[in-house]
Amino acid sequence: MIPFSKVADVFAEIEERSGRIEMTGILAELFKKAGGNEIGKLVYFVQGIVAPPYEGIELGMGEKFAMEAIASSSGHTRAEVEKNYRQSGDLGLTAEHYGGKKRQQALSASEMNADYIYAALIKIAKTSGTGSSELKKKYLTELLNNATPHEARFIVRFVLGRLRLGVGDPTILDALSVAKKGDKSWREPLERAYAICSDMGYVAQTFYENEKAIAHFTVQPFKPLMPALAERLANPAEIIDKLGKCAVEEKYDGFRLQCHKKGERVELYSRKLERMTHMFPDLVEAIRELKPKELIFEAEALAYNTKESRYYPFQQTMHRRRKHGIEAASKELPLNLFCFDMLYIDGKDMTERPYGERRKALEKLFPSGILKLSEMSLVDDPKTLKKIFDSALKRGLEGIMAKDLGAPYAAGKRKFAWIKLKKSYGKSVDTIDGVVAGYYLGKGTRAEFKFGGLLLAVYNPDRGKFETIAKIGSGFSEDEMVGLEKTLEKIKRETAPERLDYRVEPDFWVELKYVIEVAFDDITLSPTHTCGLHEGKGYALRFPRLMRLRDDKGVNEVTTTREVIEMYEEMHKS
Ligand code: AMP
Repeated sequence: MIPFSKVADVFAEIEERSGRIEMTGILAELFKKAGGNEIGKLVYFVQGIVAPPYEGIELGMGEKFAMEAIASSSGHTRAEVEKNYRQSGDLGLTAEHYGGKKRQQALSASEMNADYIYAALIKIAKTSGTGSSELKKKYLTELLNNATPHEARFIVRFVLGRLRLGVGDPTILDALSVAKKGDKSWREPLERAYAICSDMGYVAQTFYENEKAIAHFTVQPFKPLMPALAERLANPAEIIDKLGKCAVEEKYDGFRLQCHKKGERVELYSRKLERMTHMFPDLVEAIRELKPKELIFEAEALAYNTKESRYYPFQQTMHRRRKHGIEAASKELPLNLFCFDMLYIDGKDMTERPYGERRKALEKLFPSGILKLSEMSLVDDPKTLKKIFDSALKRGLEGIMAKDLGAPYAAGKRKFAWIKLKKSYGKSVDTIDGVVAGYYLGKGTRAEFKFGGLLLAVYNPDRGKFETIAKIGSGFSEDEMVGLEKTLEKIKRETAPERLDYRVEPDFWVELKYVIEVAFDDITLSPTHTCGLHEGKGYALRFPRLMRLRDDKGVNEVTTTREVIEMYEEMHKS
C-alpha cells in the first residue's frame, strides 16, 4: 500500500514543475508503485475527484467548515486560521502552515495510506442531510490530526474541490502507459477507452489487470461516453467543400441527453455527464418500452406545447431540468426527444461504424411515441443546404448540423464529422458561449444590487488555458442581477483561477463553473483581453450582452479561441 505522504510529496513536486514531460515522468514513477487495486484511486486523486461525475459523489466542502477543522486539529482559533487564509489566499497552504504548528500532537498519529484517505474522502463526500456539515467537519478534523503538513495541504484542497495540480488528462494517460510499458505506446487505446467510458480510474484499473481489455475496449451501458462535439463553419458552401455529399439534420434548441438502457434499468446523462434520470420519468418510461434489451443513443430534449402543437423556446424547455416538482413539470411541459445518434445496441458497439450505418439503426427504432427521429436530408449542393437552413430558421430552430456520412462517432472530440451552421453567423448579431471568470460590483443605481457585470473567458485548448474576451455589463434584469450575485458569491475565490490568463482584474474572482451565452455586435482587438493575444492585443467582444445561462454545457466546451479568430476573420473579410 502506498503511504499517502508519498502521494502528497509527489503532488508537491508536480506543483513545482510545469513541463508535461517532467510531470509525466514523476507521475509514472508513482503509478509504477501501485497495484491493480490501488491505481484507480490514485488516478482519481490526481484528477481531484473521488468518482466520475455521473456517480454524483462530489466533495466541495464549504470554506467555513474547513477553517474550523483546521482550527480544531491545530489547537488554534478560527480567527487565527482565517487571518492566515486571507494572507495565503489558499486554505491548503493555511492547513499546511498549521500542520507544522500543532499545539498538541494527536495521540494516535499513524501513517495513513492512500486507500485509507480515499475511504475517508468518500465518507466525507457521501455524508448528507441535516447535521452533515458538522459531521464532515469532524471527519476532516480526524484526518488533519494524523496528517503531515504536506498531506494537510492536499487533503484540504481536495475536500474543497480545489486540488488542481495542473495535470491534464492526456498527461495521466501518458503516465499510465509509461508506468506499465516503459513508453507512451498505449496512450491511444487508453485515450479511446477513456473517451467511451469517461472513467479514468476504471480505465487505469482495467489496464493494470488485463491490458487486452483496453485494446478491445467497448462502450457499456451506464458508463456514459464523452459527447462528440461539432465544429463550426460560416456558410453552406464551406460545408459542402469540406464534406461533399452529407447528411443535414435540424439543430434542435433543447438539452442533450445520452440515454442508456439495459433490461428494466434506464439512465439519462446530461451533456456534462451528470445523471439526470430522476428528472424525466416520462422519458424513462418511453425508453424502457423500446424493444432492444441494451441500448445507448443520443438525443435532444425539447418541451412540446400540445395545445398549440409547437415547441417551446429553450428557456421553457430548461424548466424541466429541475430538482423539485418533477411530476407537475412533466405534465405542464411534456418533452419530446429528437434522437440523432445510435452508439450501442444489443451488445454491438456502434461508435466505430460510419454515420450512415448508425443512422439506419436509429431509423429502425424511431419514431416511437414521444421519441422522435431528428429530421435528416442528404444534400450535395450549397443551394439545397441553404434552403434547409433558411426553412429551419423560419420554424424557430437554431440552425442545422451537417454530418460526414462516413465518419465514426468522435467521442469527446471536436471534429469536422459534425459541423454546425447557426443563425446569424457572420451578420450583425452573433453569440458565443463563455465561462464566467469573475464579477464586478455595481456603481450608481446598480449598487443596491451589489452587482455590476461579469468577466467572460473562452477556452484555448492548444494552451490548456482560459482567456478573457469581454466584460459584460448589460442584458441582465434586476431579478437576474440579484440571482447572479447570490450564485456567484458562493463560488468566490481570493485569487484568479489557475487556468485563466488575464490582464484585467474583476472585483471578485470566481471558480470557472458557469457557462453563459453572450450576444455581441462585433469582435475587435483590444489590449485588455487575452483571447488569442498577439502583439499586445487580444480579441474582444463589442457590445456583449447576456443571453442565457448554459448550465447544460461544461466549462471545457465553451467557444474556443480558434473559433473566435475564425469568426473575427469571417466578419472582417472585405
Ligand atoms: P452547440 O451547443 O452550439 O455547440 O451545438 C451542439 C449541440 O447541438 C449538441 O451538443 C446537441 O445538444 C445539439 N443538437 C441539436 N440538434 C442536434 C442534431 N441533430 N445532432 C447533433 N446535435 C444536435
